[in-house]
Amino acid sequence: MRYTTIASGSSGNCAYVESKQTRLLVDAGLTGKQVEKGLATVGVDPRTIDAIVVTHEHIDHIRGVGVLARRYKLPVYASEGCWKGMENAIGDVPEAQVRLIDANKKVTLKNLEIEAFATPHDAREPIGMTVDDGDSRLGIATDIGYVTRGMGRRLMDCQGLIFEANHDPKMLQTGPYPAHLKRRIASDKGHLSNPDAGEALVKLCDGGVRQVLLAHMSNENNRPDLAVHTVEAILAEHDHTVTVVGDFAPPAVVGLEGVLAVAEQRALRWNPSGAQRSGNPGCNRPERVRLSVAPRYEPHPLEEI
Ligand SMILES: [Zn+2]
Ligand SMILES: [Zn+2]
Repeated sequence: MRYTTIASGSSGNCAYVESKQTRLLVDAGLTGKQVEKGLATVGVDPRTIDAIVVTHEHIDHIRGVGVLARRYKLPVYASEGCWKGMENAIGDVPEAQVRLIDANKKVTLKNLEIEAFATPHDAREPIGMTVDDGDSRLGIATDIGYVTRGMGRRLMDCQGLIFEANHDPKMLQTGPYPAHLKRRIASDKGHLSNPDAGEALVKLCDGGVRQVLLAHMSNENNRPDLAVHTVEAILAEHDHTVTVVGDFAPPAVVGLEGVLAVAEQRALRWNPSGAQRSGNPGCNRPERVRLSVAPRYEPHPLEEI
């Protein structure tokens, strides 16, 4: 299975997943034209897309959904709440292309099995998902206030992840946003911070995740080098060997003082149960975790699992 992001962050999100027979967009938060252009960059003809799955109705996830659905006659999968929330914004989608996806129910799309899960976020019925082609499994989880137990359980069975590292807590606190927005972002229904992403990824990589595309980074409250090195430092602290893909300032100049201390203090809601942890002790733990960053405005090269 191959996957990437076409764009990522509050100005527009779109992920692309392909197996040998099936091609999928997860969200289309750019204009139809921008999505087409991004797909062309990674060598994908939009006419070969089989469906769009929408995680939630925020504009940075739905901007191009209606246009693309009509232009390419694509079925659109979304939760009932998400359909209600986006109906007016995306224009008419022919009844025959409207598909419902429920948390914890599987949808089969040719050889891909998509299983949605509920996410804590300030939308009507937001979801993340796993996509499985029989050989490997990808997890997609962005726009999450925290990692719930249910999400953790599902994501630790994946080999690859598109996973949120939205903000640096200190940059958010001292940044330009008004207080109510800061509170919203940091809340349980907001977005996942770098240290919280790192702490969650320790457990997910213990479960078998071996490559992570860090996504939905804030422009104002984060920096790619800070995000990637924060997550790297937390993973390394827990004995994971990490390869960072991409050209980032070395950790020494990023200003990571206190990151580990802060991360340690934060209580994580999700802890794998003893049974989950001891099910297959150490068997799936990857020798190396590959970390890369989803660019804001352009496609990331295709990743393969
Ligand atoms: Zn978003
Ligand atoms: Zn959102």
